Amino acid sequence: MKFYSTNNRNHVADLKTAVLKGLAPDKGLYMPESIPVLPKEFWDELPGKSMGQIGFEVLKHFFCPDIPEDRFKAMVEDAFNFPVPVVKVNDRISVLELFHGPTLAFKDVGARFLARVMAYFADYGGKSINVLAATSGDTGSAVANGFLGVPNVYVHVLYPHGLVSKLQELQFTTLGQNVTAYEVNGVFDDCQRTVKEAFMDKELNAEKILTSANSINLARFLPQSVYYFHALAQIPKEKWSQVVISVPSGNFGDITAGLIAYKMGMPVKRFIAAINANKVFADYLTTGSYKPQPSIATIANAMDVGDPSNFARVLELFEGSVEKMRKVISSYSYTDEKIGATIAEVYKNDGYTCDPHGAVGYAALKDGLQDGELGLFLETAHPAKFIDTVEKFAGHKVEIPERLQKFMNGTKQTVPTDADYKKLQLK
Ligand SMILES: *Cc1c(COP(=O)(O)O)cnc(C)c1O
Repeated sequence: MKFYSTNNRNHVADLKTAVLKGLAPDKGLYMPESIPVLPKEFWDELPGKSMGQIGFEVLKHFFCPDIPEDRFKAMVEDAFNFPVPVVKVNDRISVLELFHGPTLAFKDVGARFLARVMAYFADYGGKSINVLAATSGDTGSAVANGFLGVPNVYVHVLYPHGLVSKLQELQFTTLGQNVTAYEVNGVFDDCQRTVKEAFMDKELNAEKILTSANSINLARFLPQSVYYFHALAQIPKEKWSQVVISVPSGNFGDITAGLIAYKMGMPVKRFIAAINANKVFADYLTTGSYKPQPSIATIANAMDVGDPSNFARVLELFEGSVEKMRKVISSYSYTDEKIGATIAEVYKNDGYTCDPHGAVGYAALKDGLQDGELGLFLETAHPAKFIDTVEKFAGHKVEIPERLQKFMNGTKQTVPTDADYKKLQLK
């Protein structure tokens, strides 16, 4: 499969180039040249299949034979080694729990897969590879842990000083080895811009190998499509056509993966992009014009994005037409106050503890579900990652899973810096 740039359909790259470059030279995002529609047998045989089995069958269309099938199968099984269950919350709403991986957020899925794909393309011409990741909270930990100890690969995590939770911060600032954390004087969008600027510096890129582990990298977001199929595998077939999927969204990588699954023939009804006070996308659906804004800090901080990178991909999937997009996606935006009230309400009514991001997804279903529809929201992180906020609103103690606790004993080590890519300690 070849991949084209969202800025120019005629610019195409092979898999290896697209993965190692991350961003196309014209700043566009890589998209698969074609999206295969899965055969009827795939859907007939889906119920009960594992993430690994589904992952191979879906992703091989994009990654093979550039990566040989047998090797690819092993990589997929290895990357998707934790459960992603659908759990019933009440009669109309279920949740897809994406937090059972090593860093307790859905980003483990994409990061673990990406690390394996990059390790496969480990022919760097004798040079080291620098993986750059801007994070609003969870990307940093998923990427750092996914790549930790991979030979010849150096991870540079950029995060906004003071704007990620303590536990999130500990997950990528205490690792050492091949991981460096930069505490940037700015907001998430400054971190993201800094990374993009580094990729645009021709001289620097001639000298060093830089790549992105953000969802601008196609090998980060494409594997996320797998858990949408896996969700359906756990829902009775006769209900599939009523399913509405609510995706807590920031950079829109997650929902883009869902839309790719939809294009591959996933027979669900529609999607909701559930967002916090950073409501550029909701405004776009209403007005038809896209106006990036500086990001606003919220209690669902992993979604504090004022100019979602993957908007270009979403637009591409709907051929640039807001009317077509409106037929499949709606969007709801929530204030911190409403997010807090939702955490309280879901616990009180359904006995389920949401993290602030999942709460946004739930709230959007509550407001957006119509008669006869079945809601599925993505619980994108474990509530313990946002323990202060969740305990405050849910009004009960949240237990910290052991795999999160082990980070709490580490010592934070960072490089404080301005938003300037020249300050990165590249190898
Ligand atoms: C990253 C993240 C999101 C947003 O996902 P996007 O793919 O950027 O839209 C939502 N919730 C949590 C917990 C996250 O870490």
